[in-house]
Amino acid sequence: MTANLPSHAVIGAGIAGLACARVLAAAGHGVTVFDKGRGPGGRMSSRRLEDAIVELGAQSLRAGDSRFRAEVAAWERAGVVAPWPRELWRLEAGRLRRLADGRPRHTGVPRMSAVTRHLARGLALRVSTRIDGLARDAAGWWLRDQAGARHGPFASAILAVPTPQAEALAAPHAPDLAAECRGIAQRACWAAWASFDVPLAIPGLPDDWPVLDIAEGPLRRVIRHRTKPGRSAQPETLTLLARLDWSERHLEAASRDTAARLLDALHAALPKGAFLPLARASDAHRWRYAEPVVAPGADTIPGQDFRLDASGLALCGDGWRGARIEDAWLSGHHLGEFLCRHHADPILETL
Ligand SMILES: Cc1cc2nc3c(=O)[nH]c(=O)nc-3n(C[C@H](O)[C@H](O)[C@H](O)COP(=O)(O)OP(=O)(O)OC[C@H]3O[C@@H](n4cnc5c(N)ncnc54)[C@H](O)[C@@H]3O)c2cc1C
Repeated sequence: MTANLPSHAVIGAGIAGLACARVLAAAGHGVTVFDKGRGPGGRMSSRRLEDAIVELGAQSLRAGDSRFRAEVAAWERAGVVAPWPRELWRLEAGRLRRLADGRPRHTGVPRMSAVTRHLARGLALRVSTRIDGLARDAAGWWLRDQAGARHGPFASAILAVPTPQAEALAAPHAPDLAAECRGIAQRACWAAWASFDVPLAIPGLPDDWPVLDIAEGPLRRVIRHRTKPGRSAQPETLTLLARLDWSERHLEAASRDTAARLLDALHAALPKGAFLPLARASDAHRWRYAEPVVAPGADTIPGQDFRLDASGLALCGDGWRGARIEDAWLSGHHLGEFLCRHHADPILETL
């Protein structure tokens, strides 16, 4: 940290919080990132099973914005992402079709969380630290964690968490920002995983099919992890992503029952002649806050993909821009740039 530059707290070490923290740190600001998880990543985290690594959240990323494209190119040079999948398949009314949109996609290498671990390198990161409350006095912002410890003071408190979680932290201090958070719901999604002793064979698909979208029923997408770069030696493991409305109807179901129901749904959806072996192990993860319901056009108005008030309370993340990794990264990156440009401005006093 450079003398006279402010120090910030970022709550949430997902891609948005880390993007923001890196801009601030690169400009010499002090920054400490807090996350309740055991590591950084959030919805980009990976899970280690007995003999495989699986993702239950984000599977791949696309880059449209030129700055994000440059960032992804830098990740590729650093070896933490590689192109995947090269093609997608869709199953509709019993018919298989290749979806060729020609848009490049990347995934994390050797796992998705490699990206967020790469971004967290060199940052002051406090994991397993859930922030339960904020307080502000003349010195600045103070954070209280689940163990009652106080952290601070910080010039700004940046909430890089899903909007319902940001609302709870912002409400006592910034009713207007909290109301904005309330206006951006996050939809739920069940993500099941299953591992098999033998590969899944589907007539009409190549042996190395990576992703299959399913048009009807409880399941919307099936992902094969051993087709991801560097994972061909893993046994067959699938992630089964449920439709959001189905997930919300069954949100409080038990995770093992949910995995069984989604495997049944896959079995029912597969075309004739497909072989779905018996799963050796399976379970499911409930994402209560999987996908934001973003206001249309939130990504088109410059400076509108984050929020900041005069006290230094700030909000970023996918909810402020769009439902993808690129949106979350841009939201955090733009907030970091804004704070760097305006930290000494009266604007922070007058916003
Ligand atoms: C099932 C699923 C599939 C997806 N697939 C794709 C995909 O293929 N491609 C794509 O581009 N996007 C995908 N997404 C969306 C993408 O993952 C998100 O848009 C993006 O990761 C959001 O990043 P974020 O930093 O805004 O939030 P998050 O990743 O949710 O990060 C927020 C962080 O805040 C932490 N946190 C929350 N509350 C507190 C607290 N009180 N104290 C401390 N820490 C706290 C959490 O632990 C978390 O690490 C998917 C999401 C899901 C759920």
